[in-house]
Amino acid sequence: KQAAKIGTKFADARAGDLPEAKMSTKEWLSQYTKNDTVHAIFRNLCAAIFAANDDEVPARAFLTYFAVKGAFKRFGFCPRGTVGLWNDLADGIRAAGGEIWLDAPVTELHVQDGLATGVSVMKDGVATRVQARTVISNIGPRATVDLPGGEAFGPDYIARARTLPRPSANIVINFATQKRLVDVPGLVTFGKTRRLCNMGELTATCPELAPAGWYQYVAYAVPRPAIGDFDEKAEVEASLQDLRDEFPDFAQARMLSVRVMRDGWPAQRSCAGFDMPQTTPLANLWHVGDAVKDYGDGGTQACAYTGREAARHAVAHLDAVRVAAAA
Ligand SMILES: Cc1cc2nc3c(=O)[nH]c(=O)nc-3n(C[C@H](O)[C@H](O)[C@H](O)COP(=O)(O)OP(=O)(O)OC[C@H]3O[C@@H](n4cnc5c(N)ncnc54)[C@H](O)[C@@H]3O)c2cc1C
Repeated sequence: KQAAKIGTKFADARAGDLPEAKMSTKEWLSQYTKNDTVHAIFRNLCAAIFAANDDEVPARAFLTYFAVKGAFKRFGFCPRGTVGLWNDLADGIRAAGGEIWLDAPVTELHVQDGLATGVSVMKDGVATRVQARTVISNIGPRATVDLPGGEAFGPDYIARARTLPRPSANIVINFATQKRLVDVPGLVTFGKTRRLCNMGELTATCPELAPAGWYQYVAYAVPRPAIGDFDEKAEVEASLQDLRDEFPDFAQARMLSVRVMRDGWPAQRSCAGFDMPQTTPLANLWHVGDAVKDYGDGGTQACAYTGREAARHAVAHLDAVRVAAAA
């Protein structure tokens, strides 16, 4: 009966009937069930998709992702790792005559009369000024306004860029075992865990990643809270305890790394539901990436959409400038 009620609410969401923006996923779900396992599953879906807890992700964003945007309709991963996608993109850019500078941080933004005129970049240890008619920033609104020259965005926008996006954290545990822990090719999402939300055996699909006889895993956990400060040591320990509870053979695992993604390099620069617009007070500068996603979107594909949108804005801007110059 409770499942039917939740199913009906998903259908309502699909028809446009969404909860008010401030209600959390946990509050929304509590209206229909008190079942601990159902709550744990929703928590772990929030954690796996949005890198935040069910009391942090707005129900409106959760339902937009799952019911409206049709999450996982097209699902896949790149066998060369996610970087394989970006390498293909880079090949396309170079083939079209573009250049890509790696290890070249932007150190300053240049602005004149309300328009970005370029950036300074450290290239091979030398500060190099690049003139530009349009600028697209992928470091997030907060880091962009904090660049020298960022004061041109104005105090209101700077204040919003520093407070609106809510970075969320996750904990990535890489390990290997000589005994297979779970015989599933793909990602497993857990039920009643406390921090652990999902795990994949990489060697199930790419056996070449580990020496013969070894199984390599990546497990993801989300701290409490995931948005804001948390005790890193205690949260890592709670995540490892979940793995011990789920898999007794984890005790024999060889640990490869434990990384806590937070602060300057979080899991998401903004949890879904708290993103900023891509447009800025500078008419020829747009943001892309995981702090300016479409409402209720998440992950890499959401970032790709922001790239497409920024490119459209930039082309329209350049066209308008060209038309104005010709008139
Ligand atoms: C552990 C983990 C697992 C994840 N799993 C998934 C998943 O399974 N599926 C999914 O869809 N999403 C996943 N995500 C989320 C996804 O990876 C991110 O949302 C996405 O990569 C963000 O892309 P981005 O381009 O916005 O930012 P980033 O990938 O962080 O790119 C920003 C770049 O800007 C560079 N930079 C910073 N400052 C400067 C500067 N001053 N000048 C020049 N460059 C600068 C940084 O070095 C970085 O390369 C995961 C994230 C994490 C952390």
